[in-house]
Amino acid sequence: MFAFRDRRGPVEVAFTDRHAGGAFPPGTPLNLSLRRDGVPVSGPDAPGVEALEGVFASCRAPVGLTQVHGGDVVVVDEEYDGRELVADALVTSVPGLPLMVRAADCVPVLLADAEGRVVGAAHAGRPGLVAEVVPHTVAALRGLGAADLRAWVGPHVCGACYEVPADMQAEVVAAVPESASTTSWGTPALDIGAGVRAQLDALGVPHRSVHRCTREDDDLWSHRRSGPAAGRLAGLVVISP
Ligand SMILES: [Zn+2]
Repeated sequence: MFAFRDRRGPVEVAFTDRHAGGAFPPGTPLNLSLRRDGVPVSGPDAPGVEALEGVFASCRAPVGLTQVHGGDVVVVDEEYDGRELVADALVTSVPGLPLMVRAADCVPVLLADAEGRVVGAAHAGRPGLVAEVVPHTVAALRGLGAADLRAWVGPHVCGACYEVPADMQAEVVAAVPESASTTSWGTPALDIGAGVRAQLDALGVPHRSVHRCTREDDDLWSHRRSGPAAGRLAGLVVISP
């Protein structure tokens, strides 16, 4: 169920893998996609957020997003009414309210301050890297009073696997030079994880990375490997209530 879990004070962070685990039959996929071909994903063959029930100290359902590969950040407060949010990052200071971002090759990034008073989650693919969604999330957290932030960089497609056209590589590298890469077969590529880490470094945010490539690791979802059939893994962060 989990590719990685960690704690910082009262904050829990996790990245899911491709397997439901728990009470589900062996081999049941865990797909945290909101919908597939416009239809909400549910049913025994693809358990979604209900599979996460009871995993965290909180009993509330995670706040998810309709992600649009942008740079916008939403602040979720006590008034949150469960409505659909459209953005690529969430921050909150509400204990017991898990934040969730979804990915299947893009970079899920989780953030927490030293006291566990504010947390954030961001989804950074190639456009989000250029749109600076992670720096915007850091700024939003600091705006809420975060000090001594730390980040967790989740599983994503590695720089040796993420082939892109040369002109697309040039465009992204012009914005984030550290994202330049070459595939293992010698063609232009992007290392979006390296780009995200460089953005965190520039803001003085220490980070820990899960060094598993979604395309190469069959226990993770990958759009590059599976195409439209790919499900979504999740990055989750919650302040224990
Ligand atoms: Zn790889």
